[in-house]
Amino acid sequence: MELLSIKNLDLVNKKVFIRCDFNVPMDEFGNISDDRRIRSALATINFCLDQDCAVIIASHLGRPKGEVNEKYSLKSVARRLHKLLKRDVVLANDVVGNDAITKAKELKATEVLLLENLRYEAGETENDSKLSEKLADMADFYINDAFGVSHRAHASVAGITKFFDDEHKAAGFLLQKEIQFFAKLINNPTRPFAAIVGGSKVSGKLEALTNLLPKVDKIFIGGGMAFTFLKQMGYEIGASLVEDDLLEDAQKVMDEAKKLGVKFYLPVDVIAAEKFAPDAVSKIVTAQEIPEDWMGLDIGPATVRLYREGLNDVQTVLWNGPMGVYEMEKFARGSSKIAHFVADSYATTVVGGGDTADLVQRIGVDEEMSFISTGGGASLELLEGKILPGVLALIVKED
Ligand code: AMP
Repeated sequence: MELLSIKNLDLVNKKVFIRCDFNVPMDEFGNISDDRRIRSALATINFCLDQDCAVIIASHLGRPKGEVNEKYSLKSVARRLHKLLKRDVVLANDVVGNDAITKAKELKATEVLLLENLRYEAGETENDSKLSEKLADMADFYINDAFGVSHRAHASVAGITKFFDDEHKAAGFLLQKEIQFFAKLINNPTRPFAAIVGGSKVSGKLEALTNLLPKVDKIFIGGGMAFTFLKQMGYEIGASLVEDDLLEDAQKVMDEAKKLGVKFYLPVDVIAAEKFAPDAVSKIVTAQEIPEDWMGLDIGPATVRLYREGLNDVQTVLWNGPMGVYEMEKFARGSSKIAHFVADSYATTVVGGGDTADLVQRIGVDEEMSFISTGGGASLELLEGKILPGVLALIVKED
């Protein structure tokens, strides 16, 4: 898929609006724990600055749900961006209020303005055309470099593209790189191709799982989502995370896997804890023997061994979602073991998603992976063969 390229735009001395995805993971003190998403956007930002552009950058962070909330301010992002760019970054007090509009208007060549969290505006997630227009009015050019949010039809991602013609909008380098990588992965994966899917909920990944089934040879399930499958198979899962309304869907996924000959792996043992806490009493139990009121918070050692066996001959691995509550040391071992195994393998290893990227970086195996995507949801949707709403308007027209 060929996208409108930033390289073909006449940017010299112009005002440019760059939509980035700076939705970075933060610790409990508000410190950025993985700045990959910020670092990944530097190529595009520097490209514009090198051409003496005035650069307006916008991003969301977390889910403030249309309200101003200091917790989700882009202040620490602005500080990190300043450090990485080695130049001043002005943070506006709002998104499209007086402050942002005035600062955008007065912005001079080679200056950088960061708008406050786009999701302080309810219109952002509603793809509100008025908000798109206000954002578009700030600049002469629009660049989308926010791969991680390009699967969302939001005002700064989708709606805004209507206000720029093909000579005034393009994909940034990061977006381009991600799209090209996944296009190759879908069209021609070296087989066997395995997906490791974890994380908290089945609901967020159900469609992706269904759509991945015809493309992969094996699927390994971990994380909280495993328990919906285990419950459907008749296991007692205690107080583990479960989505009861999705039990039937979980069955459909397993039936479909069987029909297609996809090897479907579920945990055979788990680390069960008395409560959801870092200091909880915990023990290793088989999937058959999770005590009542206990919750499974990580995959167990037998599952790690089983998954390693299953992954042994795999040539391409896509990993999306942690195997357990990796933020708590006690429940990070399963994810860590799988991460080391995947990193040491000779397969093409693709990590998708904020949490999984954060995980491999914490463990220190990020350099060993073939590709770390900045978008979990977006990469899954690409693999499903979907055209992302944020990319749609940037596809080069065929005539
Ligand atoms: P997601 O956003 O769906 O990819 O889920 C990531 C989150 O899933 C991480 O914050 C993990 O702590 C959480 N998680 C992983 N395994 C479990 C589990 N067994 N129970 C509850 N949460 C989990």
